Amino acid sequence: MPKRAFITGIAGQDGSYLAELLLGKGYQVHGLIARSSHNPRERLAHLAAAETSGQLQLHYGDLTDSSSLFRILTLADPDELYNLGAQSHVAISFEIPEYTANIVGLGTVRLLEWMRASKKPMRFFQASSAEMFGAAPAEVPQRETTPVFPTSPYACAKTFAHFMTINYRENYQLFACTGIMFNHESPRRAENFVTRKIARGVAEILAGTRRELRLGNLAAEKDWGYAQDFVEAMWLSLQQDKPDDYVIATGESHAVQEFVDEAFRLAGLQASDYVVIDSQFFRPTDTRRLVGDPGKAREKLGWQPRTSFRALVRLMVEADCARLGVKLPMV
Ligand code: NAP
Repeated sequence: MPKRAFITGIAGQDGSYLAELLLGKGYQVHGLIARSSHNPRERLAHLAAAETSGQLQLHYGDLTDSSSLFRILTLADPDELYNLGAQSHVAISFEIPEYTANIVGLGTVRLLEWMRASKKPMRFFQASSAEMFGAAPAEVPQRETTPVFPTSPYACAKTFAHFMTINYRENYQLFACTGIMFNHESPRRAENFVTRKIARGVAEILAGTRRELRLGNLAAEKDWGYAQDFVEAMWLSLQQDKPDDYVIATGESHAVQEFVDEAFRLAGLQASDYVVIDSQFFRPTDTRRLVGDPGKAREKLGWQPRTSFRALVRLMVEADCARLGVKLPMV
Protein backbone atom coordinates (compact mmCIF):
# COMPACT_ATOMS: atom_id res chain seq x y z
CA MET A 1 0.00 0.00 0.00
CA PRO A 2 1.67 3.30 -1.05
CA LYS A 3 1.92 6.12 1.48
CA ARG A 4 -0.62 8.90 0.93
CA ALA A 5 0.22 12.60 1.10
CA PHE A 6 -2.09 15.61 1.00
CA ILE A 7 -0.75 19.01 -0.10
CA THR A 8 -2.65 22.27 0.31
CA GLY A 9 -1.34 24.83 -2.20
CA ILE A 10 -0.29 22.05 -4.60
CA ALA A 11 -0.74 24.41 -7.55
CA GLY A 12 1.77 26.88 -6.11
CA GLN A 13 5.53 27.02 -6.55
CA ASP A 14 6.46 24.72 -3.65
CA GLY A 15 3.40 22.51 -3.98
CA SER A 16 4.33 21.55 -7.53
CA TYR A 17 7.93 20.66 -6.55
CA LEU A 18 6.75 18.73 -3.48
CA ALA A 19 4.23 16.78 -5.58
CA GLU A 20 7.05 15.83 -7.96
CA LEU A 21 9.28 14.71 -5.09
CA LEU A 22 6.57 12.60 -3.44
CA LEU A 23 5.37 11.02 -6.70
CA GLY A 24 9.00 10.06 -7.36
CA LYS A 25 9.08 8.33 -3.97
CA GLY A 26 5.98 6.30 -4.83
CA TYR A 27 3.44 8.23 -2.75
CA GLN A 28 -0.15 8.63 -3.80
CA VAL A 29 -0.47 12.42 -3.80
CA HIS A 30 -3.68 14.36 -3.19
CA GLY A 31 -3.75 18.11 -3.64
CA LEU A 32 -6.11 20.94 -2.80
CA ILE A 33 -6.67 23.55 -5.47
CA ALA A 34 -8.64 26.70 -4.86
CA ARG A 35 -11.65 27.25 -7.09
CA SER A 36 -10.52 30.87 -7.41
CA SER A 37 -7.23 29.83 -9.06
CA HIS A 38 -7.06 31.29 -12.56
CA ASN A 39 -4.88 28.49 -13.98
CA PRO A 40 -4.45 25.82 -11.31
CA ARG A 41 -2.79 23.21 -13.56
CA GLU A 42 -0.12 25.51 -15.05
CA ARG A 43 2.68 24.33 -12.71
CA LEU A 44 1.39 20.74 -12.70
CA ALA A 45 1.04 20.22 -16.47
CA HIS A 46 4.13 17.97 -16.61
CA LEU A 47 2.49 15.64 -14.05
CA ALA A 48 -0.51 14.88 -16.28
CA ALA A 49 0.44 11.20 -16.63
CA ALA A 50 0.37 10.76 -12.83
CA GLU A 51 -3.06 12.38 -12.75
CA THR A 52 -4.33 10.08 -15.50
CA SER A 53 -3.07 7.00 -13.62
CA GLY A 54 -4.64 8.19 -10.36
CA GLN A 55 -1.32 8.50 -8.50
CA LEU A 56 -1.99 12.25 -8.39
CA GLN A 57 -5.49 13.38 -7.44
CA LEU A 58 -6.50 17.04 -7.42
CA HIS A 59 -9.51 18.26 -5.45
CA TYR A 60 -11.28 21.59 -5.60
CA GLY A 61 -11.69 23.08 -2.14
CA ASP A 62 -10.66 26.01 -0.05
CA LEU A 63 -8.75 26.61 3.17
CA THR A 64 -11.53 29.00 4.21
CA ASP A 65 -14.26 26.35 3.79
CA SER A 66 -14.19 23.72 6.54
CA SER A 67 -16.92 21.53 5.11
CA SER A 68 -15.23 21.00 1.73
CA LEU A 69 -11.85 20.68 3.42
CA PHE A 70 -13.00 18.01 5.88
CA ARG A 71 -14.81 16.03 3.18
CA ILE A 72 -11.75 15.99 0.89
CA LEU A 73 -9.32 15.18 3.71
CA THR A 74 -11.48 12.30 4.90
CA LEU A 75 -11.65 10.96 1.35
CA ALA A 76 -7.87 11.27 0.83
CA ASP A 77 -7.06 9.79 4.27
CA PRO A 78 -3.42 11.00 4.22
CA ASP A 79 -0.42 9.72 6.18
CA GLU A 80 1.32 13.06 5.67
CA LEU A 81 -0.34 16.46 5.40
CA TYR A 82 1.66 19.43 4.07
CA ASN A 83 0.10 22.87 4.56
CA LEU A 84 1.53 25.11 1.83
CA GLY A 85 -1.65 26.93 0.79
CA ALA A 86 -1.50 30.66 1.42
CA GLN A 87 -2.04 34.19 0.22
CA SER A 88 1.75 34.36 0.18
CA HIS A 89 2.52 37.92 -0.92
CA VAL A 90 3.60 40.25 1.92
CA ALA A 91 2.81 43.56 0.19
CA ILE A 92 -0.62 42.32 -0.97
CA SER A 93 -1.44 41.23 2.60
CA PHE A 94 -1.65 44.93 3.59
CA GLU A 95 -4.47 45.32 1.03
CA ILE A 96 -6.38 42.18 2.10
CA PRO A 97 -5.46 41.54 5.77
CA GLU A 98 -8.67 39.76 6.77
CA TYR A 99 -8.55 37.42 3.76
CA THR A 100 -4.88 36.69 4.42
CA ALA A 101 -5.56 35.92 8.09
CA ASN A 102 -8.45 33.64 7.17
CA ILE A 103 -6.44 31.52 4.71
CA VAL A 104 -3.05 31.54 6.40
CA GLY A 105 -4.06 31.66 10.07
CA LEU A 106 -7.49 30.04 10.41
CA GLY A 107 -6.88 27.72 7.46
CA THR A 108 -4.09 26.10 9.47
CA VAL A 109 -6.33 25.72 12.53
CA ARG A 110 -9.00 24.04 10.37
CA LEU A 111 -6.44 21.43 9.27
CA LEU A 112 -5.13 20.89 12.80
CA GLU A 113 -8.67 20.53 14.14
CA TRP A 114 -9.50 17.93 11.49
CA MET A 115 -6.31 16.06 12.32
CA ARG A 116 -7.07 16.13 16.07
CA ALA A 117 -10.65 14.94 15.53
CA SER A 118 -9.72 12.18 13.09
CA LYS A 119 -7.49 10.48 15.71
CA LYS A 120 -5.61 8.74 12.94
CA PRO A 121 -1.81 8.82 13.40
CA MET A 122 -0.55 11.16 10.69
CA ARG A 123 2.12 13.77 10.24
CA PHE A 124 1.69 17.48 9.59
CA PHE A 125 4.05 20.05 8.07
CA GLN A 126 3.39 23.77 8.42
CA ALA A 127 5.09 26.19 6.00
CA SER A 128 6.15 28.92 8.42
CA SER A 129 8.00 32.00 7.27
CA ALA A 130 11.09 34.01 8.17
CA GLU A 131 8.79 37.03 7.86
CA MET A 132 7.84 36.20 11.49
CA PHE A 133 11.14 37.81 12.57
CA GLY A 134 9.88 41.17 11.35
CA ALA A 135 11.45 44.42 10.21
CA ALA A 136 14.30 44.41 12.74
CA PRO A 137 15.23 40.81 13.61
CA ALA A 138 16.43 40.36 17.19
CA GLU A 139 19.62 38.59 16.07
CA VAL A 140 21.55 37.71 12.92
CA PRO A 141 21.45 35.00 11.71
CA GLN A 142 17.96 33.96 12.81
CA ARG A 143 17.44 30.56 14.43
CA GLU A 144 14.49 28.50 15.66
CA THR A 145 14.86 30.27 19.04
CA THR A 146 15.04 33.85 17.74
CA PRO A 147 12.16 35.96 19.16
CA VAL A 148 9.46 36.83 16.63
CA PHE A 149 8.03 40.30 15.97
CA PRO A 150 5.87 40.11 12.84
CA THR A 151 5.40 43.40 10.97
CA SER A 152 2.86 42.63 8.22
CA PRO A 153 -0.59 41.00 8.10
CA TYR A 154 1.00 38.03 6.29
CA ALA A 155 3.68 37.67 8.98
CA CYS A 156 1.11 38.00 11.80
CA ALA A 157 -1.04 35.27 10.24
CA LYS A 158 2.00 33.01 9.72
CA THR A 159 3.07 33.59 13.34
CA PHE A 160 -0.38 32.59 14.60
CA ALA A 161 -0.33 29.44 12.40
CA HIS A 162 3.21 28.62 13.54
CA PHE A 163 2.39 28.75 17.25
CA MET A 164 -0.95 26.99 16.80
CA THR A 165 0.95 24.14 15.15
CA ILE A 166 3.33 23.98 18.12
CA ASN A 167 0.36 24.19 20.53
CA TYR A 168 -1.41 21.27 18.88
CA ARG A 169 1.83 19.30 19.04
CA GLU A 170 2.30 20.03 22.74
CA ASN A 171 -1.35 19.88 23.85
CA TYR A 172 -2.63 16.96 21.77
CA GLN A 173 0.61 15.11 21.02
CA LEU A 174 0.16 15.50 17.26
CA PHE A 175 3.14 14.84 15.00
CA ALA A 176 3.25 18.43 13.78
CA CYS A 177 6.40 20.11 12.41
CA THR A 178 7.15 23.60 11.21
CA GLY A 179 9.71 24.75 8.67
CA ILE A 180 10.68 28.40 9.17
CA MET A 181 11.48 29.05 5.56
CA PHE A 182 13.54 31.88 4.19
CA ASN A 183 13.01 33.11 0.61
CA HIS A 184 13.13 30.41 -2.01
CA GLU A 185 12.69 30.93 -5.69
CA SER A 186 12.49 29.02 -8.96
CA PRO A 187 11.29 29.40 -12.54
CA ARG A 188 7.83 28.64 -11.07
CA ARG A 189 7.87 31.70 -8.79
CA ALA A 190 4.94 34.04 -9.39
CA GLU A 191 5.80 37.05 -11.54
CA ASN A 192 5.08 39.59 -8.80
CA PHE A 193 8.16 38.50 -6.80
CA VAL A 194 11.39 40.39 -7.52
CA THR A 195 13.56 37.44 -8.65
CA ARG A 196 11.04 36.37 -11.26
CA LYS A 197 10.48 39.97 -12.30
CA ILE A 198 14.21 40.28 -13.01
CA ALA A 199 14.49 36.92 -14.82
CA ARG A 200 11.43 37.62 -16.93
CA GLY A 201 12.54 41.23 -17.55
CA VAL A 202 15.95 40.14 -18.86
CA ALA A 203 14.32 37.58 -21.16
CA GLU A 204 11.91 40.22 -22.52
CA ILE A 205 14.77 42.67 -23.12
CA LEU A 206 16.61 39.97 -25.07
CA ALA A 207 13.42 39.23 -27.01
CA GLY A 208 13.12 42.93 -27.88
CA THR A 209 9.71 43.37 -26.22
CA ARG A 210 10.94 45.52 -23.30
CA ARG A 211 13.23 48.55 -23.03
CA GLU A 212 13.62 49.01 -19.27
CA LEU A 213 13.20 47.16 -15.98
CA ARG A 214 11.80 49.14 -13.02
CA LEU A 215 12.95 47.88 -9.63
CA GLY A 216 13.00 49.01 -5.98
CA ASN A 217 15.91 49.12 -3.55
CA LEU A 218 18.79 47.15 -5.09
CA ALA A 219 20.69 47.21 -1.78
CA ALA A 220 18.03 45.06 -0.07
CA GLU A 221 19.53 41.72 0.95
CA LYS A 222 17.82 38.32 1.02
CA ASP A 223 18.65 34.75 1.94
CA TRP A 224 17.61 33.15 -1.36
CA GLY A 225 17.41 29.41 -1.92
CA TYR A 226 15.97 27.10 -4.59
CA ALA A 227 12.43 25.82 -4.01
CA GLN A 228 13.27 22.31 -5.23
CA ASP A 229 15.90 22.00 -2.48
CA PHE A 230 13.53 23.38 0.16
CA VAL A 231 10.71 20.88 -0.42
CA GLU A 232 13.15 18.09 0.36
CA ALA A 233 13.59 19.59 3.85
CA MET A 234 9.79 19.55 4.28
CA TRP A 235 9.67 15.84 3.50
CA LEU A 236 12.71 15.06 5.69
CA SER A 237 11.14 16.83 8.67
CA LEU A 238 8.21 14.36 8.57
CA GLN A 239 10.51 11.30 8.40
CA GLN A 240 12.09 11.86 11.85
CA ASP A 241 11.29 10.02 15.10
CA LYS A 242 9.96 13.21 16.74
CA PRO A 243 8.21 16.35 15.45
CA ASP A 244 10.22 19.58 15.64
CA ASP A 245 10.78 23.05 14.19
CA TYR A 246 13.51 23.81 11.65
CA VAL A 247 14.93 26.92 10.00
CA ILE A 248 15.18 26.18 6.28
CA ALA A 249 17.62 28.63 4.72
CA THR A 250 20.88 28.85 2.80
CA GLY A 251 22.69 30.89 5.48
CA GLU A 252 23.95 33.33 2.80
CA SER A 253 22.55 36.73 1.98
CA HIS A 254 22.76 38.46 -1.38
CA ALA A 255 21.69 41.93 -2.48
CA VAL A 256 19.06 42.38 -5.19
CA GLN A 257 21.87 44.17 -7.08
CA GLU A 258 23.83 40.88 -7.21
CA PHE A 259 20.83 39.06 -8.68
CA VAL A 260 20.42 41.83 -11.26
CA ASP A 261 24.12 41.90 -12.19
CA GLU A 262 24.32 38.12 -12.64
CA ALA A 263 21.08 37.98 -14.67
CA PHE A 264 22.23 40.75 -17.04
CA ARG A 265 25.76 39.27 -17.26
CA LEU A 266 24.25 35.98 -18.49
CA ALA A 267 22.40 37.98 -21.13
CA GLY A 268 25.62 39.75 -22.20
CA LEU A 269 24.07 43.10 -21.22
CA GLN A 270 24.96 45.95 -18.88
CA ALA A 271 22.32 46.22 -16.10
CA SER A 272 22.78 50.00 -15.75
CA ASP A 273 21.59 50.46 -19.38
CA TYR A 274 18.16 49.01 -18.54
CA VAL A 275 17.42 49.16 -14.80
CA VAL A 276 15.41 52.15 -13.54
CA ILE A 277 15.06 52.66 -9.78
CA ASP A 278 11.43 53.32 -8.87
CA SER A 279 10.57 54.37 -5.30
CA GLN A 280 7.09 52.78 -5.53
CA PHE A 281 8.82 49.40 -5.13
CA PHE A 282 10.76 50.36 -1.98
CA ARG A 283 9.68 48.45 1.18
CA PRO A 284 10.07 49.49 4.84
CA THR A 285 11.87 46.16 5.47
CA ASP A 286 14.51 46.70 2.77
CA THR A 287 17.26 47.51 5.27
CA ARG A 288 16.88 44.48 7.55
CA ARG A 289 19.30 41.56 7.66
CA LEU A 290 17.11 38.50 7.26
CA VAL A 291 19.41 35.52 7.00
CA GLY A 292 18.78 32.08 8.47
CA ASP A 293 21.00 29.66 10.33
CA PRO A 294 20.19 26.22 8.84
CA GLY A 295 22.47 24.45 11.36
CA LYS A 296 19.69 22.46 13.05
CA ALA A 297 18.25 21.24 9.72
CA ARG A 298 21.75 20.23 8.64
CA GLU A 299 22.44 18.38 11.87
CA LYS A 300 19.06 16.71 12.52
CA LEU A 301 17.70 16.27 8.99
CA GLY A 302 20.99 15.87 7.12
CA TRP A 303 19.65 18.58 4.81
CA GLN A 304 21.59 21.24 3.00
CA PRO A 305 20.80 23.36 -0.03
CA ARG A 306 22.41 21.99 -3.19
CA THR A 307 21.88 24.93 -5.54
CA SER A 308 24.18 27.96 -5.32
CA PHE A 309 22.96 31.54 -5.68
CA ARG A 310 24.54 31.90 -9.13
CA ALA A 311 23.09 28.57 -10.29
CA LEU A 312 19.64 29.72 -9.12
CA VAL A 313 19.88 32.98 -11.11
CA ARG A 314 20.97 31.06 -14.16
CA LEU A 315 18.21 28.49 -14.08
CA MET A 316 15.57 31.20 -13.62
CA VAL A 317 16.85 33.37 -16.48
CA GLU A 318 17.32 30.33 -18.72
CA ALA A 319 13.76 29.18 -18.07
CA ASP A 320 12.24 32.58 -18.91
CA CYS A 321 14.37 32.82 -22.06
CA ALA A 322 13.22 29.33 -23.09
CA ARG A 323 9.58 30.35 -22.54
CA LEU A 324 10.05 33.29 -24.91
CA GLY A 325 12.13 31.28 -27.38
CA VAL A 326 15.27 33.43 -27.01
CA LYS A 327 18.82 32.18 -26.54
CA LEU A 328 20.88 33.27 -23.55
CA PRO A 329 24.22 34.41 -25.00
CA MET A 330 26.60 33.88 -22.04
CA VAL A 331 25.85 30.25 -21.09
P1 NAP B 1 2.52 30.17 -3.69
O1 NAP B 1 3.20 29.89 -5.00
O2 NAP B 1 1.83 31.48 -3.53
O3 NAP B 1 1.50 28.97 -3.43
C1 NAP B 1 0.46 29.07 -2.50
C2 NAP B 1 -0.71 28.28 -3.05
O4 NAP B 1 -1.83 28.39 -2.13
C3 NAP B 1 -1.21 28.78 -4.40
O5 NAP B 1 -1.37 27.70 -5.28
C4 NAP B 1 -2.56 29.39 -4.07
O6 NAP B 1 -3.49 29.32 -5.11
C5 NAP B 1 -3.01 28.53 -2.91
N1 NAP B 1 -4.10 29.18 -2.18
C6 NAP B 1 -4.32 30.51 -2.03
N2 NAP B 1 -5.47 30.71 -1.36
C7 NAP B 1 -6.00 29.50 -1.10
C8 NAP B 1 -7.17 29.06 -0.44
N3 NAP B 1 -8.03 29.93 0.07
N4 NAP B 1 -7.40 27.74 -0.33
C9 NAP B 1 -6.54 26.84 -0.87
N5 NAP B 1 -5.39 27.19 -1.51
C10 NAP B 1 -5.13 28.51 -1.61
O7 NAP B 1 3.56 30.06 -2.49
P2 NAP B 1 4.92 29.20 -2.41
O8 NAP B 1 6.04 30.09 -2.76
O9 NAP B 1 4.73 27.91 -3.10
O10 NAP B 1 5.00 28.96 -0.84
C11 NAP B 1 4.44 27.80 -0.24
C12 NAP B 1 4.18 28.09 1.23
O11 NAP B 1 5.40 28.45 1.87
C13 NAP B 1 3.22 29.25 1.47
O12 NAP B 1 2.46 28.97 2.61
C14 NAP B 1 4.14 30.42 1.73
O13 NAP B 1 3.50 31.41 2.51
C15 NAP B 1 5.27 29.72 2.48
N6 NAP B 1 6.57 30.39 2.37
C16 NAP B 1 7.09 30.63 1.13
C17 NAP B 1 8.33 31.25 1.03
C18 NAP B 1 8.97 31.53 -0.32
O14 NAP B 1 9.97 32.24 -0.37
N7 NAP B 1 8.45 30.96 -1.41
C19 NAP B 1 9.04 31.60 2.19
C20 NAP B 1 8.46 31.32 3.44
C21 NAP B 1 7.23 30.70 3.52
P3 NAP B 1 -3.57 30.56 -6.15
O15 NAP B 1 -2.28 30.55 -6.88
O16 NAP B 1 -4.71 30.25 -6.99
O17 NAP B 1 -3.75 31.78 -5.31
